[in-house]
Amino acid sequence: MQQTIYAAFALLAALGAGDFAAVDESRETPTRFEYTQVHMGTRFRILLYAGSEGVANRAATAAMDRIAALDKALSDYKQDSELSLLGAASPTAKPVPLSDDLWNVLVYSQKLADRTEGAFDVTLGPYSRLWRRARRRKELPPKDLLQKAGHSVGYKKLILDHCRQTATLTSEKMRLDLGAIAKGYAADEALIVLRDRGIESALIDAAGDIVTTGPPPGKSGWKVTVANLSNAEAPTEKQGRVPQEHPEKSAPNESATGSRLVIKDAAVATSGDLYQHLEIDGRRYSHIIDPFSGIGLAGQTSVTIIAPDGMTADSLASAISVLGVDKGLALVRDMPGVACRFTWIDSDGKTSVRQTETFQPYMATSDPDEK
Ligand code: ADP
Ligand code: MG
Repeated sequence: MQQTIYAAFALLAALGAGDFAAVDESRETPTRFEYTQVHMGTRFRILLYAGSEGVANRAATAAMDRIAALDKALSDYKQDSELSLLGAASPTAKPVPLSDDLWNVLVYSQKLADRTEGAFDVTLGPYSRLWRRARRRKELPPKDLLQKAGHSVGYKKLILDHCRQTATLTSEKMRLDLGAIAKGYAADEALIVLRDRGIESALIDAAGDIVTTGPPPGKSGWKVTVANLSNAEAPTEKQGRVPQEHPEKSAPNESATGSRLVIKDAAVATSGDLYQHLEIDGRRYSHIIDPFSGIGLAGQTSVTIIAPDGMTADSLASAISVLGVDKGLALVRDMPGVACRFTWIDSDGKTSVRQTETFQPYMATSDPDEK
């Protein structure tokens, strides 16, 4: 029996090199600055253009502080986070008042749960715990434990009161998991901090969940490379949560190494089992869980979402992975400003791609900035 865990958390998107090469020291031309910190178990990278190092440092520090504060509130790994304390109080004796941040994320999550009929479900914490255990033990969760956990899962067991900004958890042993949405929200919030400090050109990359403001000076957009499903390689870093960046590649626009997108004032996120999966008896299971079975998705898929904001892109990429290509693309077609590409590998090893017609314009068919 072959049991392999690939827990490495490699970056799904590597930034194109061309955007960041030139640095002009003159006062008028903004200079590029880059910052990296680990939060939410992953690496956040901020790229920004500013007129001086002082302005850049202060803005980036404030943005990273905002991410750190969100990590403290929204983490399901930290036992004293607002999120964990809420779960631990289940079933709640009375409605629990929520902070604005937890409220914002839960309201969005519940809307998406409704629209996807439960394919996206942040109450699946009990399943994620079993799944993490499965990864440690390299065996699927026992049926009886899955069944038991199922009694505490279901988005309708989480009730939000929109007048009072409170939450009620109606079952016992409920646990909330914002792993599919918190990074996107944190990146959005950090971008707001940068904007408030006058930064007009910035990109924040949370392990492949990318949000952007205006383009780099003199450019039409930020170039990002989304790794193709067919280039999945065994990761070199096992068990780590800190992502490894893909080596920068001189990839043409669509190649064996990835697809180049050009975005500005938009977000892009990719979900898939490219680097994080559990393999048992030759079958691959994703870290994205089907809330109806409690089991990680089987098969190889990759979903890339481009959306107006990071919370939408992050959560939709996971939701559509569960929904599948037909329902997923149908959902996105009803969402203004959202584009989707769904890639999967058939049982015969053939790679197939379907995307919304809105996706194509983001693909760098040629490099307008290099003409
Ligand atoms: P990544 O963490 O690689 O960016 P995702 O954004 O797709 O991947 O989020 C995966 C995480 O989301 C899982 O580790 C788990 O915490 C949570 N999750 C898994 N399945 C679901 C689901 N169906 N609905 C909501 N959250 C999920
Ligand atoms: Mg996600």
